[in-house]
Amino acid sequence: MERARDAALRVATTGRVADYIPALAAADPEAFGMALATTDGEVFGVGDWEQPFSIQSISKLFTLALTLAVGGESIWKRVGREPSGTPFNSLIQLETEHGIPRNPFINAGAIVVTDQLHSLTGDARGAVRDFLRAESGNPLLETDSVVAASEADNGHRNAALAHFLASYGNLDNPVDTVLEHYYAHCATAASCRDLALAGRFLARHGLRADASRLLSRSDAKRINAVLLTCGMYDAAGEFAFRVGLPGKSGVGGGILAVVPGRGTLCVWSPALDPAGNSVGGVAALDAFTTATDWSVF
Ligand code: GLN
Repeated sequence: MERARDAALRVATTGRVADYIPALAAADPEAFGMALATTDGEVFGVGDWEQPFSIQSISKLFTLALTLAVGGESIWKRVGREPSGTPFNSLIQLETEHGIPRNPFINAGAIVVTDQLHSLTGDARGAVRDFLRAESGNPLLETDSVVAASEADNGHRNAALAHFLASYGNLDNPVDTVLEHYYAHCATAASCRDLALAGRFLARHGLRADASRLLSRSDAKRINAVLLTCGMYDAAGEFAFRVGLPGKSGVGGGILAVVPGRGTLCVWSPALDPAGNSVGGVAALDAFTTATDWSVF
């Protein structure tokens, strides 16, 4: 992991910290953390691995998992599972594909999944927060309300996506409610340690930390497959090429990657490439999976 950190720090400053959400612009581009959690509960870390950061789109994998766990297959009538090949906040395919987002990991798809989770639980934000707290063992895990407000104040694109979805009848709850819950789970502050632990159900074929079953083996396999093909937006192919793991990035600079049957890796390095993925995070995972046999290939 030290070698992975060195690889990340060599390139991190070639990226740019996200500033379209003003509250994220203050992040230190030279911060770096990495955690590894094994399926049997061991956790290792380097650098700023216990420092909370904004998880952003990493939340999309938890909203999907909870929606499948509570509501089953019906979500797949409202969202596809093909790579989009377009940026995470793109509107283009929504019109040509009649309001059905390409996959659950672009913003349009995650807004639909949040809507479904809200209908199923009455509180999408709370469902994600409670799950993250339980799996990470960190009862303090919470939405950063400053980041959530900053997203809402500057969320014209997400509002456009949500209204567009509503115009096709693909939102059941009011646009403002869905967006409020979407911003709240994106703006969760969590550390590499928290996220590596919270994602372990995907490495444990659907089993939660307390050994109860969240998802069937089949659904866990399917989420990992969609993460591999869609988790890094229009750079999913490059990530599969360099890292060879299912993974989900967020514009806060985090990436959560899954090694089925073995464990999870979470890296944080705030400077991003043009696709919105962490430059240092991809470099660290590339170095790690190249030096070890932790890859699905
Ligand atoms: N909350 C962010 C947004 O909606 C998430 C984007 C991301 O992390 N890629 O724009």
